[in-house]
Amino acid sequence: MLVIDNYEDLSRFRAKLGDKRIGFVPTMGALHRGHLHLAETSLANCDVTIVSIWVNPRQFNDKEDFEKYPRNFDEDIKKLRQLGVDLVFIPKSEEELYKAPKIKEESRNLNGLDQPLEGLFRSGHFDAVVEVVYRLFCTVKPSVAFFGKKDFQQFRIIEHFSSNNNLGIDIIGLETIREESGLAMSSRNERLSADERQAASGIYSTLQWMKSEWKSDECSVDEIKEAASKRLRAIPGLKSIDYLEVVSEASLNPIKKGSSNPARAFIAVYFGPVRLIDNLSLNN
Ligand code: AMP
Repeated sequence: MLVIDNYEDLSRFRAKLGDKRIGFVPTMGALHRGHLHLAETSLANCDVTIVSIWVNPRQFNDKEDFEKYPRNFDEDIKKLRQLGVDLVFIPKSEEELYKAPKIKEESRNLNGLDQPLEGLFRSGHFDAVVEVVYRLFCTVKPSVAFFGKKDFQQFRIIEHFSSNNNLGIDIIGLETIREESGLAMSSRNERLSADERQAASGIYSTLQWMKSEWKSDECSVDEIKEAASKRLRAIPGLKSIDYLEVVSEASLNPIKKGSSNPARAFIAVYFGPVRLIDNLSLNN
């Protein structure tokens, strides 16, 4: 596996690949089974698999979250090598990323997908995500890029951005990989105590409960949300709730029960200083 830390070497490598089917998995490292599932899916479906690792300071709103974000580059390289990934791009500086072209102003329109949910709590977050993913796309020039539905809003935004700008890249969203307890795998879980990690599985059980209520005819969306918030607040160690929402998967706008459009429940909460997010389809 090649480990490349600069724009020029990556561009040279990419130029030699011609029209091979290139699969790309952008990450922030501290790799767990969720990330590895994306890389494995790429390996199974593409001729060449490229993974990037960049802890993007511009997409963090909280300085402490950025500073404490786990970084295990040596371990990450080992894991990717074992899988058989062809190349990992770990830019040595922001400059290496931003040598690729900038997004044109008129291409930035995210059709409001960046406004609700995370957008209400992390101002500028998705602009920074889209900017870095676009630069990576321009450098890697993948045929397919793999994203986790763990960050469903991010996946929808990139899917919209790519098709809206005719980037010619298939954006594939893969299901969330969970710990045995149901807790969605996340690099941030490493910052939880053993007790908090156990208790945090209550996020997923709340989502599952919302799904069963969504299927029954009894409660309205507001009643489901209220009862689900109560369940969340009863989880030991849970400090606060940023949001608990039910929205349309396509538009990320509020959705009513009985709608024929697919619906998804989203939760963002704090355990101590650690912010966790999760979501679940309510339809299948
Ligand atoms: P991150 O390193 O957190 O930026 O994540 C890199 C990619 O891995 C994103 O597309 C995430 O949605 C995806 N990802 C993170 N956690 C999981 C998970 N538990 N299951 C599936 N994909 C995940």
